[in-house]
Formats: sequence, C-alpha cells, structure tokens
Amino acid sequence: MHDFPPGTVALVGAGPGDPGLITVRGRQLLEAADVVVYDALSSPRLLRHAQNAEHIYVGKLAARHSMTQEQINALLVEQGQAGRRVVRLKGGDPFVFGRGGEECEALRAAGVPYLVVPGITAAVAAAAYAGIPITHRDFNSGFTLLTGHEKEEAYRDDEAKARDKGVGSSDVDWAAIAKLPCVAFYMGVKALPRITARLIEHGMSPDTPAATIQWGTTPKQRTVTATVATIVGAVKTAGIGAPAITIVGRVVALRETLNWFEIRPLFAQTVVVTRTRDQASELSDRLEALGANVLEAPTIETVEAPTPAIDAALHSLSRYAGGGRGRGAGALADSSPIAEDPLPNPPPEYRERGPDAAPWVVFTSANGVKATKARMRTLKLDARDLAGVKIAVIGDATADAVRAELGIEPDLVPTSFVAEALADELIARGVVQGNRFVLLRADIARPVLVDRLRAAGAASVEDIAVYETKPATALPPEVIEAVDAGRVDWVTFTSSSTAKNFTALLGPDYAAKLANVKTASIGPVTSDTLRSLGLPVTVQAETAGVAALAASLLSYSK
Ligand code: SAH
Repeated sequence: MHDFPPGTVALVGAGPGDPGLITVRGRQLLEAADVVVYDALSSPRLLRHAQNAEHIYVGKLAARHSMTQEQINALLVEQGQAGRRVVRLKGGDPFVFGRGGEECEALRAAGVPYLVVPGITAAVAAAAYAGIPITHRDFNSGFTLLTGHEKEEAYRDDEAKARDKGVGSSDVDWAAIAKLPCVAFYMGVKALPRITARLIEHGMSPDTPAATIQWGTTPKQRTVTATVATIVGAVKTAGIGAPAITIVGRVVALRETLNWFEIRPLFAQTVVVTRTRDQASELSDRLEALGANVLEAPTIETVEAPTPAIDAALHSLSRYAGGGRGRGAGALADSSPIAEDPLPNPPPEYRERGPDAAPWVVFTSANGVKATKARMRTLKLDARDLAGVKIAVIGDATADAVRAELGIEPDLVPTSFVAEALADELIARGVVQGNRFVLLRADIARPVLVDRLRAAGAASVEDIAVYETKPATALPPEVIEAVDAGRVDWVTFTSSSTAKNFTALLGPDYAAKLANVKTASIGPVTSDTLRSLGLPVTVQAETAGVAALAASLLSYSK
C-alpha cells in the first residue's frame, strides 16, 4: 500500500451492490483506511472490510438531503489534510455519473493527493445479472451510457450546467440517440415516459426490446422486460423505482434464454439466520449462493468460561502425549494458577491397558473446539499435546473444526449427530468400560452423554464447559422490520438455544409473528425445542452441519 500513505484520498468504486463485486484493490484500500466516506448505493457489507476505520455516511436519507456535493468535497479535503487515509467509497464506478471528477478537482485544488480505483458500473453489472449480454455480435457493435438525470442537482456554475445536461432535459440530440443500437439509461425511472416517447418520435422502432432492472446484482434485484413502447407501463405495474437502469436494445431479448441469477433456487426469498455472534457465517454464505436474501440474527453471544478446570484438563491430557514432550508440566509451572496443586500422572491402569486406554476427548460444537484451541495457545500447548488422546465429535462442522483448528483427524464421528449416538458408538466399540472421558463443551450441554458413559462403566467423565453463552439483548432492526412486514420466508435454527432466544427476542406474540414463516432446523433436538415452543418444523437437516441445513431448504424449494 505504498501509494496510500496518510493524507491520501482514494476514490474507490464499490461496484453495483453485490459486495463481492468490489475489486481486490478496492478491498485492500478499505482494509488500510482510517476513515470511509460512503453513500447509500455502496453496500453496507463492504464496511466490514474497514472495521477499525471511522465510517461517515454522506448519502441521501429518505426525507432529507444529508450533505451537498460541496460539503462532501470539503469533508474529503479536510480529512486528507488531517493526515488520514481516506477511502471515498462510491457506488459502481467513481467516474460514471458519480461526480468523482468533481471530488478529484476539489482535492487537486487543495493539494491533497488522491488515487482512483475503478469499479463495475451499474449498467454493465445489472445487465449481466439480468442475463443480458451488453454487446453481442449478432445485435450491436457498441453500447452507450446516458443519464436520465431525474434529480436536477445543484449545478456548480452555468458552464457546467451547459455541458452536463441529461437526456431528461430538452436540448438533447434525440435523433442521434434514437439510432444507437443499445443504450443504458441511469437515473431514469421518473424520466422514463419522456425518454421512451422521444426515442419513438425520433424513429426508434416501438418494438425495440427494453428492460428495467432495479437493485441489480443484489438479492432484491427485479427485472421487467417489455418494448420501448410498453416499458413505462410494465415498470409502473411492477412498482419499480430507483435505483434502476433501463436498457434499450435488441440484446435485451437474449434474457429470455440467458437469465441465470434470478432463477437460482432461493432467489428473492428472505431467510433469517439465527446464530451465535461469533459463529462463522458459513450458513449465510451458502444460502446467499443459492440466491437468498439473508438477514443475520445473532441470538447468543459466547463468552469465556472459568479457566482453571479447562487448564487442569488440558495439562493432564498432555501427559499422555509420550515421546518426552512434557511441555504440559513446564507450562504449568510457569503460568497456571493451580501450579501448586500438582497433577497426577496418568493412573497406572490406563498405561497398562496400552493404546486402547487412551482417554477420550469429546467435542460437541465448533465453538467448543475454537475455545479449546484458544486456551491451548494461552497455555503454550499445541496438537502434539493431544497426541496420546482419542477424539470424538458430534457433527460434521465440529469434525471440520477439529481438523482446521487442531490439525487432528477425529477418531470418531458418529453418522447420527446427537449425543445418544455418540455414546452408543463408544459403547459398541468397547472403549467405555474403565476409561476416562473429557467433555470440552458449552455450558448448556445436555447431561445425556455424561449419564450414558457413566452408566456404561466409564472410569471417569469430566464435563468441562470451555465456553459459556448468554442471550443477545435485542434483534437487529432490519430483522424486526422484515418480520413485522411479513417479508420473512424462512428462519433457520442451528441449536435449541437459538430457537429459545430468538422467540424470546421476538416477544410474547412470537408465534403469531412467525405464523407464515417456514422453519429449518439443524437436527432432532432443535426440532423438538421448536415444537415445544409451538412452532412447526418445516424442514430438518439430514445430518448435523450447515451444509445439510442449507440443502434442506433447497430440497423444499425444488
Ligand atoms: N457511479 C454509479 C452510478 C451512480 S448514478 C455507477 O457507476 O454505477 C446512480 C444511478 O445508478 C441510479 O439511479 C441507477 O440508475 C444506477 N444504479 C446504481 N446501482 C444500481 C443497481 N444496483 N441496479 C440498478 N441501477 C443502479
């Protein structure tokens, strides 16, 4: 980032809406920014790349103009002169109807260094996501971007006014425009009646295909197709408003066969994903890839559990590692609060029984694995310290976490993913009797595993909470709004606690609020919880894990 020193302003094209359509360079600059100045058309999700930066919104709010262009220019100059790394994030491309040129002029005049990162402009992106190839050898040899200028923004001066008229104004060469093979009109919803009338008056065939695309590249994308003579009515009937692009040209007809984005299986469906605050967003990513409009609703937060019990368990497990590793003891002497309380070496009966006598560690969630790993790092332990133990897990996601976080292949992943199945498999393998088990899990785990292992003659079962959970205090406003407006199609639940907490957060009339909402549950236990809350379960994942959960929504929608 040598060309982005403090005191520089970067005009960065955010792309048209899909947060994946920003450039690599744009994202790097966001990550380095001290301050991000953005407006309504840049996806709020992009701000996640600039977590430590200040975010300044300068877009238009529903009822009022928040800032004039002159004020924005002044703000950029001021932030640059204050010695900050400033990203000016602009929808689409900064120079395509984005007034980026004016911002650069102001920066140049003030002597503030700047750089520009192009972005994918809305017409090109929306056309692509609507299945319209903006050029095609059989139909057109070029395309033109025009602004309908529905907002008569304050012009800087008369000279600019003279050269900066959109097609919405009167002295435009309509005869020339009407001959163009493909035109994309920006900011043209209100001006559309005037635009299409002029095109036809000046000789364009009324049959020329036309499409209007609203919120292109986002889950809210809507497209209507008609002809240049009928598009105004079609847009009105569909209730389409800004932001939208209208494309006029024969290539529009190709959408009929080339449409791809809007036909994805969960397209236009709103899915609320209830989850813990720090869980990976893998489920959201998968659902979005299927076309869903995902709203995340964190319902629980994970917090640290008291550490002495965890530390004691980890140190004692490390003593089975063999090969004279012995770091457990060393680390214990340096750092553990329980150093004076020496831990026993493995009891002789374990060693006598050979490799089968290795203790078993049981993980029941990916969060448990992560919390364990974090604690191991603090204690300067690593995977080698678990060399002498066997590892059993519940669920594919937990198994993946053991692989990814600990670099260990689990010894046992039962095909069914409930605690009962794990106990049964361990018993069937004959490894329970006389053996030691250490459960590293959440504070709210069900007692069934402990009970079954004890009943089957385990020498000891240590049930240790490696993290604790507490309910979130409120749902995000966009989730509340969507539920109240009846816009939610699905809610997914990845645990009993997400079900309990989500309904609690919705309030006493949650059942009425969710009456028309489909529910997807990760497994039988969560499903039981949902039913006990009076919520029918629409689909249940066939195996534990978010991949199977996403697949269950998909199979319902097919
Ligand atoms: N600099 C931007 C354009 C800014 S002008 C770019 O390069 O894309 C704002 C206009 O862009 C809107 O009125 C609309 O016509 C168009 N636009 C922006 N995002 C859009 C989207 N996601 N779908 C359809 N049109 C969009």
